[in-house]
Amino acid sequence: MLEIRFIFFRRMRYQVIPVTHYQQNCSIIWDEATRVGAVIDPGGEIDKLLTFCEQHQIQLEKILLTHGHMDHVGGTSALAKALQLPIIGPHRDDKFWIDALDQQATMMGMPPAEVFEPTTWLKDGDVVEAANTQFEVIHCPGHTPGHVVFYHADAGIAFVGDVLFQGSIGRTDFPRGNHQQLLDAIRNKLWPLGDDITFIPGHGPLSTFGREKQSNPFVADPNYG
Ligand SMILES: [Zn+2]
Ligand SMILES: [Zn+2]
Repeated sequence: MLEIRFIFFRRMRYQVIPVTHYQQNCSIIWDEATRVGAVIDPGGEIDKLLTFCEQHQIQLEKILLTHGHMDHVGGTSALAKALQLPIIGPHRDDKFWIDALDQQATMMGMPPAEVFEPTTWLKDGDVVEAANTQFEVIHCPGHTPGHVVFYHADAGIAFVGDVLFQGSIGRTDFPRGNHQQLLDAIRNKLWPLGDDITFIPGHGPLSTFGREKQSNPFVADPNYG
């Protein structure tokens, strides 16, 4: 049984590719055997993403979105149209952000992006099939109301978008942001997944939940360790 689990998670690969001048950590995930894959948060520079997939013979099947901010979703419509890909996520509560992509582009100094309608809105506890494996959806509001995290237990990784960073947490001064909600989501939904989980944040270097629980000034547990 243990051996089967080991083989199972070894087949899933991911590559972080920072995009836009916000250096947003777009991730390509794929199955080593079948080469089917998905993009998480294609904020822009889709040529860069497509080139990587071509070079590694990855066949993209879907787009996964953590939340509706421009630096995470700016390339979604163009990429979805180019490859006929379904758009999975975020939670419906981020619809107002996606509908406001025009204003977001102006505010953030980014090229205009077309508004889109996700194929599937996600909710807490959903399971998303991608890269020939399954990810658990964890709704973590606070940075935006409809922010979701994609968690893979066997691989021990979580794609957390702008919920949590190495040494920091997401901003909550946007419309419908909520600082307490964000702290609660991190402490009550992410920490229980385990100290060893590596997370890929929306910006900056990777870290583990255990390390942040110990040293992140916003959410460290004073009784830890
Ligand atoms: Zn954001
Ligand atoms: Zn971001």
